[in-house]
Amino acid sequence: MPEKKLTIALTGNPNSGKTTVFNAITGSRQHVGNYPGVTVELKEGSCLFEGYDITIVDLPGTYSLTAHSIDEVVARNYLVDENPDVVVDVVDAGNLERNLYLATQLVELDVRLVLAFNMSDMAQARGHKFDYEQLSELIGIPIVPTTAHKGRGIDDLLHVAVETATKAEVDSPSRVHFQPDFEAAIAGLVDLISREHILDKFPARWLAIKLLEGDADIRRTISASADDGEHILKVADHSVERLRKLYRDTPEIVIAEDRYGFISGVCEEGVLRTVESRHDMSDHIDKVVTNRLLGLPIFLFLMWLVFQLTFKLGNVPMRLIEMGFAWVGGFVSAVLPQGHLQSLIVDGVIGGVGGVLVFLPSILLVFLAIAFLEDTGYMARGVFIMDRIMHTIGLHGRSFIPFVIGFGCSVPAILATRTLENRRDRFVTILVTPLVSCSARLSVYVLLAGAFFSPERSGSVIFSVYLIGILLAIVVARSFRRYLFAGPSTPLVMELPPYRIPTLRSLLLHMWIRGWMYLKKAGTVILGMSVLIWILCTFPVQPDSRQTVATATASTVDNGVEVGHRATLGEEQLRSSYAGSIGRAIAPVLKPIGLGNWKIGTALFAGLGGKELVVSTFGTLYSLGDTGDMFAKLKDSLREDLTPLKAYSLMIFILIYIPCVATVAVIRQETNSWGWALFAVVYTTVLAWLVSLAVYQGGRLLGPAIEQLWKWTS
Ligand code: GDP
Ligand code: MG
Repeated sequence: MPEKKLTIALTGNPNSGKTTVFNAITGSRQHVGNYPGVTVELKEGSCLFEGYDITIVDLPGTYSLTAHSIDEVVARNYLVDENPDVVVDVVDAGNLERNLYLATQLVELDVRLVLAFNMSDMAQARGHKFDYEQLSELIGIPIVPTTAHKGRGIDDLLHVAVETATKAEVDSPSRVHFQPDFEAAIAGLVDLISREHILDKFPARWLAIKLLEGDADIRRTISASADDGEHILKVADHSVERLRKLYRDTPEIVIAEDRYGFISGVCEEGVLRTVESRHDMSDHIDKVVTNRLLGLPIFLFLMWLVFQLTFKLGNVPMRLIEMGFAWVGGFVSAVLPQGHLQSLIVDGVIGGVGGVLVFLPSILLVFLAIAFLEDTGYMARGVFIMDRIMHTIGLHGRSFIPFVIGFGCSVPAILATRTLENRRDRFVTILVTPLVSCSARLSVYVLLAGAFFSPERSGSVIFSVYLIGILLAIVVARSFRRYLFAGPSTPLVMELPPYRIPTLRSLLLHMWIRGWMYLKKAGTVILGMSVLIWILCTFPVQPDSRQTVATATASTVDNGVEVGHRATLGEEQLRSSYAGSIGRAIAPVLKPIGLGNWKIGTALFAGLGGKELVVSTFGTLYSLGDTGDMFAKLKDSLREDLTPLKAYSLMIFILIYIPCVATVAVIRQETNSWGWALFAVVYTTVLAWLVSLAVYQGGRLLGPAIEQLWKWTS
């Protein structure tokens, strides 16, 4: 006599064959009842299988679990209140995309789920072929093909259902990731909801999503049972209003689009079609931009265009800010008496912070372009294209998302690796993300490219540095994956939401959020470090710096390391200051890569605090004792100390060497280990030196001809 009892609930769209599955399982052992309080009928039946006494409930057919109809409310209330051991979602495999929509919501409801791919005979006749293994692995849910009216696959289905119901633990299925603005709103609501224990029977994330979807039934539940219900509803209304303005559509529609985006991604990878069946606009665009041959060149071209445009457009406002700071510097020098205070304000504060702020227009433009690519939905395709490349290095396409965020700043990028569930994928991504050029580094590139290359070439030069960063990230990831973190990676779904025209409001907001981080850093960390660097440059004060002019010229032989060619008084003072001593100590090591100049050593040392400090340190080092147009002078002085090849070597070195303090701190936090943080510091520095060595010595080997050519053409 079997004693073990199980309940299986059948869900699915109307006409997917649920009742046919139900009949095939239960035969005559069934009865029809009404769901308490409503007139929706609920069929229940039973069967004996593998020693279990199984109760099967045929829920009303629904397309979704949002309270649009009484059927949907009954279905979801049953799932929440009765908590069946396993839910079988009967899917019409011939209309997979529409049918999987319900499955994405069942996943949000945290139920144990099995998918029956029913009508598989029809699907096959229509030319659909499924890679069941791939599909099931991608979405993390077991799939059983069935042909219910012929009784095929029913025993398999029961077997898998029983197995899923009785497993001690099931893997959590892939869930839809919504737009970042939505995820932020959901996180806020989840936080409020999880404080209300009365709501514990609902998954908090599901409730939060339903609130954003404006589900009236859930609103009533929350207002009636939660202590702080009104507050939760108010926060939800506020989020809905904000999202509606950002996306110019109700959140419900955007959420639905993201779910379909998830489904498109699943189908793209797991459904092999012999007959074309998708026809909308997004699909036509996707045919081109995710094409195996064209996809990557298009993606690279768009990225190149971004840097080309931002460099060209950024030039004008940059000049204006430059002139503004030069004017302020001149004004302060005129009103303040000569001395340490004047020097602190003009060289330390204005030179340092101004040097960083000048790049704000370029940085805002890059962010605007990235926001545009993200908001239109193209970036998701970029991730999709990169997925193929990422797979060859043993990572998943989703690892590319931190890379994209890393264009802004490595810190949030490393935090974004939390979406990678596999520890190996996550650690490798954390370790290589700093190789992607952040906006701080962009300021150095813009300065150096502007000083050494013509405006026509600068965009391409900067693009090439970014590209080298990404290629290195890929190569390094591959070797880490192979030698440090060997093992299989978990498949994740690439989401392909439909294209949409972004609102100006959301573009500006997304640009501003990242731009603001840059500004805040300029006002706090950079200001503080600029003052510190000024102190290191000014002290110890030379008793009589006049006497040292002669030694400065003589000391070009010092360690065989070049010193600045212009022996001014300020420079001699600098050379013997604390900062200069550090710079001189580092310089010999940098000589083989063409950077054996103490000023560069000093700037690179300062760059540990944040890479934009390289720029502000140059600003301080080269503008000390001068009150003229410091930016023009800065570029001139750099041209005296460097050649285009050396400047390029410097850009590469800055691209790769030690991530800034904030990044190292967040690596420690996310890996929970000082060891890995230290490892990141060491490997990036060694790699930076080696790659710059290759660039510099390679450039020299190929002859001064190249350098000459560069000089002529730029
Ligand atoms: P429900 O609305 O989900 O309960 O769907 P039904 O079980 O009432 O089935 C709708 C129709 O699909 C019926 O005519 C079934 O005979 C038919 N049907 C069910 N399963 C299959 C299948 O696997 N293949 C085919 N070709 N038809 C099926
Ligand atoms: Mg039915």
